[in-house]
Amino acid sequence: MNEERPVQVDTDFPGGNAVIEHVGADRIELRPDLRDTLGDWFYWCIRVRGAAGRDLTVQVRRDAGPGIGVRGPAVSKDGGRHWTWLGADAVTGDEFTLSVPEHAAELRLSFGMSYTAEHLERFLTANAAHSALERGLLTRSDRGRRVDLLRLGNLHGTQDRRVLLTCRHHACEMMASHVLEGLMAEVLSGVAEYAHWLREHVEFVVVPVVDVDGVARGDQGKNRAPHDHARDYGPEGGLYPETRAISQLIEDTGRFDAVLDLHCPNVAGPTNQRGYFVGSEGAENWDAVQRLAAALEEETAAGPLPYRRADDLPFGTAWNGPANYISRDGRDIPLTSLDAFLADRVDVGTHAVFEFPYADAHGAEVDDASARAFGVALARSLSLHLAERNRD
Ligand SMILES: [Zn+2]
Repeated sequence: MNEERPVQVDTDFPGGNAVIEHVGADRIELRPDLRDTLGDWFYWCIRVRGAAGRDLTVQVRRDAGPGIGVRGPAVSKDGGRHWTWLGADAVTGDEFTLSVPEHAAELRLSFGMSYTAEHLERFLTANAAHSALERGLLTRSDRGRRVDLLRLGNLHGTQDRRVLLTCRHHACEMMASHVLEGLMAEVLSGVAEYAHWLREHVEFVVVPVVDVDGVARGDQGKNRAPHDHARDYGPEGGLYPETRAISQLIEDTGRFDAVLDLHCPNVAGPTNQRGYFVGSEGAENWDAVQRLAAALEEETAAGPLPYRRADDLPFGTAWNGPANYISRDGRDIPLTSLDAFLADRVDVGTHAVFEFPYADAHGAEVDDASARAFGVALARSLSLHLAERNRD
């Protein structure tokens, strides 16, 4: 009798996203909600209630490309705190099927392993008393949300290196946040010799969530009209308070020895099931990025997720050419990424965009834990790179 009742599906929670097209007793049909996205993208995240004990089929429709990643959807049974992949075996075409446990009052299902303000808050609360962490305010978003500016490491003004880390210029790219949290936790731990060195010598300046409104509202963020946060560093000044504040932060701070902007790639295609650096114009900086990349390749060789320099995307290869920095809203105007903005500055060292995959790296499983481990490897690579720079 209960089987006849439709399940309840909604997106009314931080990070929620979907256009729900059909809900039955054992079937849900949805599309990613594109809102102000130019073109098509793939992020979605739903809450399902009233489905305990049922076999549920979920169809994710897209106009082009898959809406389900290579390890199936991510599933959370604790309100989005922890996630696991359902697995590729559960997927057929644009549908997946799962058996909802008998006592599961609520499930979250998503394209990826959601990381919202709640996750960041948990990390910051756990480290609130840490002497090597300072939580400040970068700015307020258009909708009044706080945009955090974190400082980690040497906070005494006696540092001899400074690193800027940014994440979530594209709201939906949540797996990069797990990497960043792993990196920050490692710096704060200071246990390993190199982590201790980082804490002593380096001030990390971190904007953990750039597009806070987009993350909270569950936006794609990628290709937001008229242009997205990651293309908002043009000479005419930014559209968004967050990017304007980051530009100002760079103006005010003085030298950054390294700047890393963390992203996640497209869902589709074999070249996106791996991590890679994306080059901007400028051979000298790309050489420096390649030295950091060499360290990262070595550091990740023994870890859960391999990274290979051969996978990098120098400027002028694949999608990474001038056309990627032209407005897609028909105005045909050039747009500026943070990386390109930094290329013109003399007081910035190595700067790069890193694309971290959603679910798979050369056959190894990307999840929140392996992403955090990758962040640890990135921390160690940065320490080697920064120490090397000092010898220049
Ligand atoms: Zn991105």
